[in-house]
Amino acid sequence: MVLVIGTGIAGLSAAVSLKKAGLRVKVITKKLTGGSTYIAKGGLAAAVGKDDSPEIHAKDTLIVGDGLCDEKAVHYVTKEAPRAVEVLESWGFKFADDLRLEGGHSRRRVLHKTDETGRDIYDFLMTKLKELEVPLLEDRVVSLKVSDEKVEGVIAERSGVVYDDKIVLATGGYAYLFKYTSNQPTNVGDGMAIAFKAGALLSAMEFVQFHPTVTSIDGEVFLLTETLRGEGAILVNSKGERFAFKYHEKGELAPRDVLSRAIYSELLKGERVYMDLTKIYDFERKFPVLNNFLKRHGLSQSSKIPVFPGAHFVDGGVRVNLRGETNVKGLYAIGEVSDTGLHGANRLASNSLAEALVFGVNLPSFIDKWEGLYVDDGDVIELGLRNGNKFSIEEIRKTNWENVGIIRNEERLEKAVFVYSSADTCSLDEEANAALVSLLTAIAANTRKESRGNHFREDFPQRDDRWKKRIYFKVK
Ligand SMILES: Cc1cc2nc3c(=O)[nH]c(=O)nc-3n(C[C@H](O)[C@H](O)[C@H](O)COP(=O)(O)OP(=O)(O)OC[C@H]3O[C@@H](n4cnc5c(N)ncnc54)[C@H](O)[C@@H]3O)c2cc1C
Repeated sequence: MVLVIGTGIAGLSAAVSLKKAGLRVKVITKKLTGGSTYIAKGGLAAAVGKDDSPEIHAKDTLIVGDGLCDEKAVHYVTKEAPRAVEVLESWGFKFADDLRLEGGHSRRRVLHKTDETGRDIYDFLMTKLKELEVPLLEDRVVSLKVSDEKVEGVIAERSGVVYDDKIVLATGGYAYLFKYTSNQPTNVGDGMAIAFKAGALLSAMEFVQFHPTVTSIDGEVFLLTETLRGEGAILVNSKGERFAFKYHEKGELAPRDVLSRAIYSELLKGERVYMDLTKIYDFERKFPVLNNFLKRHGLSQSSKIPVFPGAHFVDGGVRVNLRGETNVKGLYAIGEVSDTGLHGANRLASNSLAEALVFGVNLPSFIDKWEGLYVDDGDVIELGLRNGNKFSIEEIRKTNWENVGIIRNEERLEKAVFVYSSADTCSLDEEANAALVSLLTAIAANTRKESRGNHFREDFPQRDDRWKKRIYFKVK
């Protein structure tokens, strides 16, 4: 029996393919409508166009990853993505015929269904899961049961101990732990903390991607996708000034991290930043979901939409090999919770749904032949757990935003390390897990004395290739 934790694209695609391969599988999830897949918008990158190839997709991924991608992982995912798409389509999912272009991609390769493709995939896979009669439980996993360095089950809040010797963590990232975010409250780093406490290696925790254009109207958070800017949306500050060209020659089409810093810098000056959608042709047909969002709040295409950069995606996580295996026997990690090496220091847009699908659908080929993760690169930091101060999720979100956010420096990072070093990191609640992953993020960001990918240090603004290596964490 295999136990899959999480019902995003990673967990659902793994559960469906394991069941189809004849394995016994069950799924447990904290919240059925939680996770990022449920709200993901743009689409899934795969080299399926006539003018495209996995090699070109790999090259684009490596450029954005800024020297820290694991090349084997990049070539594996870009080669396997078209096949994973075929598998999904063979199950009955249908992508739209056109391919979209997104920032950082040199070809049209973003597959989509509507303008909420993550939700489309979620709905489809959830229906499949039910058709296949895979048992599904809504409960929060709080820890792994490990004996002799092998997993033997999990402990869940309401269900207690659930025994299984193959556990697939598909619990997503922790970008909700920043005051401004595009993520749902389920994504607070539970999976990474649980794995770390069980002895798994974590890596690349300093690389958190911020999305430049998130909005929140009457408390409803909405991500304004890159495609809008590709279709003509512009950014203006309170003075009506189109400021993006001051920061980058490509203006609103600058890379995500550059644009996030540009908007953040404007906000720090006391400006407000708005997206102006008026130049988008055929807006209502192209962006029906955004159009409905605006209507719900009494706004329209001609309204100026306030935007801010928000934490969006976590590049790092539980280090795995190309089979999704960790260094703890029987424990797999797939999707955003993992660090496969694909994203390196920065994620190419639409590569995360692709990565999660590849690792999900390929899992049955490996599940009966354990090899285990072996690493011989990078620096390993060992860290103990402690019983300490309790911080609420809101306190952690504020601390991370102010000290471990878009523009970092030693003073603020040390403050965050100091705060979290006093925190309770060994309890089983979300707060302790959130403090633990925040501590690892702050330590890694403080240790990495350079700027690379989405990790920007104003005190070390250049890339320094002495840091062209991963920072690992292991429990002491
Ligand atoms: C608004 C938004 C738009 C995005 N758009 C795109 C896009 O267009 N293309 C792209 O490639 N990427 C996009 N991303 C990123 C992408 O959606 C995610 O990286 C991806 O969906 C992660 O999938 P996952 O299955 O790994 O995790 P998630 O979809 O985050 O799912 C995590 C699951 O784990 C469960 N869980 C968490 N903790 C526990 C626990 N302790 N016990 C039990 N269950 C638990 C949750 O309930 C949830 O079901 C977007 C992200 C956001 C937030």
